[in-house]
Amino acid sequence: MMKKLCDLHVHTTHSDGTLSSADVVCEAKRAGLVCIAVTDHDTVGGIAEAQQEGKRLGVEVIAGVEISTEFSPGVMHILGYLIEWQNPEFEKGLAEIQSDRRRRNQKIVERLKQVGIHISLRELEQTSEDNQISRLHFARLLMKKGFVGSRKEAFDKYLGSGKPAYVKREHVLSSHAIKLIRSAGGVAVLAHPACLGFPVESEEFCATIERLKTEGLEGLEVYSSAHKADQARKLMAITDRFGLVPTGGSDFHGDNKTIDFGYVGKGASVPYEWIERMKRMILGEKRSLKG
Ligand code: AMP
Ligand code: MN
Ligand code: MN
Ligand code: MN
Repeated sequence: MMKKLCDLHVHTTHSDGTLSSADVVCEAKRAGLVCIAVTDHDTVGGIAEAQQEGKRLGVEVIAGVEISTEFSPGVMHILGYLIEWQNPEFEKGLAEIQSDRRRRNQKIVERLKQVGIHISLRELEQTSEDNQISRLHFARLLMKKGFVGSRKEAFDKYLGSGKPAYVKREHVLSSHAIKLIRSAGGVAVLAHPACLGFPVESEEFCATIERLKTEGLEGLEVYSSAHKADQARKLMAITDRFGLVPTGGSDFHGDNKTIDFGYVGKGASVPYEWIERMKRMILGEKRSLKG
C-alpha cells in the first residue's frame, strides 16, 4: 500500500509565505500529499480557505498555527495542531500577539522616517492579507517605492539586525503560547527544535524540553527542512524518552525561502500515523475536536 504522506508546517500569504491558502493545497495535491497543516505565524486567517480547497481536492487540511515565543540564544516557535481555531478566547489571544507586532511595525515606520524614508502603516497593510506585517512586507514596499533594488539591500541597509530601522520583536512566553493552544483543544509542538540554539541532546536542550513538557508541550517536530539526518534521529529518540509525539513539516514559505514543498529532510517523510496519534491524544483527554 502507498504510504500516506503529510507536510505539517506550511506558510501562506496570511503570514510570510508567498502562495495563497488555496494554492498551497493545490501544491499538496500535486506533490501527492494526503494531509497538510497550515501553520501561519500568529494567525489562523488562512485556515478557512485552505480547508475549503482541501475538501474540493481531497486533501486533509489541519488547522494549525506557529507562535513565536521568547527564547535565548536561538528561536523558539511553538506549533499548534488540530486547534478549535474559531474559539473566541484563542482568537483574542492571537489578536493580542498581533498587536505586539503592530506596535513594533509602528516603531519601524518611525525609524525609517529618521533616515528619510516615508512610508505609512496603511500602505503596508495593503500589502498583506491579514495585517500580519513582517519585515518581509517592509522590504517589498521599500522595493516597490524604489528605495532599494532588492530584498537583500532592504535588510542589509535598513531592516536587518543592528541596522537603523531594526526593532527587536517582543515575544510571549512559551507557557503562554502552549496554554493558548491547549485551551483551544489543540496539541502544542516545538517547531524545528534544532534551531533552539543548543545542540540536540545537550544538557541544556533536554532541560528545556523538560520545562516545556511541564508547561504542556506534547510533541517535537522531528522532521524538518532545517534538520540534518542525525539531528532528526536524535530528536526521535528524545520524543521516546519524554513521551512526546513526533511531527514533521517542511516550513514551506513559497518564494520567500528556498524550501521545497513537502521536503522534510533527506530521505525523510511524515507518516499519517503521527496525525492519528495527535488525534487520539486529543480524544483520550476528552478535549473537544473540530477540524
Ligand atoms: P519578522 O517576523 O518581522 O522579523 O520578519 C521575518 C521575515 O523577514 C522572514 O519572512 C524572513 O524571510 C525575512 N528576513 C529576515 N531576515 C532577512 C534577511 N537578512 N534577508 C532577507 N529576508 C529576511
Ligand atoms: Mn516565516
Ligand atoms: Mn519557525
Ligand atoms: Mn514556520
